Amino acid sequence: MKKIVVLGAGESGTGAAVLALKQGFDVFVSDMSAIKDHYKEMLESRGIPYEEKKHTEDMILSADEVIKSPGIPDEAPIIVKLRERNIPVISEIEFAGRYTDAKMICITGSNGKTTTTSLIYHILKTAGYNVGLAGNIGKSLALQVAEENHDYYVIELSSFQLDNMYDFRADIAVLMNITPDHLDRYNHCMQNYINAKFRITQNQRENDAFVFWNDDPIIQRELAKHGIKAHLYPFSIEKEEGVVSYLESGKLYITEPQAFNMEQEELALTGVHNMYDSMAAGISANIAGVKNSYIRAALSNFAGVEHRLEKVARVNGVEYINDSKATNVNSCWYALQSVKTKVVLILGGKDKGNDYTEIEPFVLEKVKGLVFLGVDNSKLHAFFDGKVADIRDARSMEEAVRHCYEMAEEGDTVLLSPCCASFDLFKSYEDRGEQFKAAVRAL
Ligand code: ADP
Repeated sequence: MKKIVVLGAGESGTGAAVLALKQGFDVFVSDMSAIKDHYKEMLESRGIPYEEKKHTEDMILSADEVIKSPGIPDEAPIIVKLRERNIPVISEIEFAGRYTDAKMICITGSNGKTTTTSLIYHILKTAGYNVGLAGNIGKSLALQVAEENHDYYVIELSSFQLDNMYDFRADIAVLMNITPDHLDRYNHCMQNYINAKFRITQNQRENDAFVFWNDDPIIQRELAKHGIKAHLYPFSIEKEEGVVSYLESGKLYITEPQAFNMEQEELALTGVHNMYDSMAAGISANIAGVKNSYIRAALSNFAGVEHRLEKVARVNGVEYINDSKATNVNSCWYALQSVKTKVVLILGGKDKGNDYTEIEPFVLEKVKGLVFLGVDNSKLHAFFDGKVADIRDARSMEEAVRHCYEMAEEGDTVLLSPCCASFDLFKSYEDRGEQFKAAVRAL
């Protein structure tokens, strides 16, 4: 019997193990860290053998194929050894894709993935489609393929998931944008990261669709290099040559395949970046055959996604906004762009090779106070000291919010849009956002 080893027993790994068992493979799961109780139960109840807090090499290196969690870097010693032995290492999405004929709508990009993915799912659900939500959000694709039977999957794909995808084919591929992110995982080489993103188009055929932001200079530059066969659906904020979606006179238009329009005012999500997300979602649903009335209804009643420009509360005339998911400089740029008032901005956390030059003009124009919330704030000080009058350090969210409370005046906005990962002081960006909301509500 063919032996499958699954490395990492989180959402994707556990799902992959369940599917592999169902497909009749000999399965073994190995995780270097402690496995969460919920996932242990899933494995135990199905009799899937596993180990935690270690990798037993003999067991792993005897695999015919390995399914790797996207969190494990290529330089991890066990991955290096697998490569030396030519044992194929694939992603959970690649594996799950082999066992379903469902239509795949896949979304990648540096920013806007979760919002766009959730929006497409919301539209298809509204239209009554039998659709599953997978990838970085919701249940793993593998588990849904094993235990549910959807006609469509809307899948958020990070570059790490794309790295280990080879034969998987997206019926509709969406590329939101490409800006520097995670360069620490790509040997600080932007081209490697770009290539990973473009893998979303690999294996696409003439009848498939590639939806992308037309004004992204990197996407434009790279478009010709990747031999894309799919039909192109570029979108832009303005009506430009060749684009299939744009804004004109206060209306959002989609020209293909079905002509669609709606008032911009009716869109649930506001701000330029959210306009792109609404366009990409509208085009994808349109291609999937959703009727205009459903697209219109869903784009206007979408509730938004937590931790993304989420309004928390107004305290003494100051608006508090939680954008904890802004883990890179570009998403903070969009947050600052969308705020019309003076801002007290919380930055900091685990730096991923950030260059703050991109947000400097907005900081100079709008930011009256900065609070650096991280274990090591030296890089932030080196860049911003002298540029903003009031800069303070904080070691906890409570302390950061207290500083903001003192620094902001009526009419201002306090914005948590930290540009950095959260792992130095928090469990996750969700934990960081929750702590922010709790501290604001306690003011
Ligand atoms: P991702 O899943 O790619 O991280 P999210 O939808 O979770 O994207 O949004 C992450 C951050 O990026 C949030 O701060 C959000 O406001 C911002 N954002 C959302 N859509 C876009 C976009 N199209 N371009 C740039 N930033 C965006």
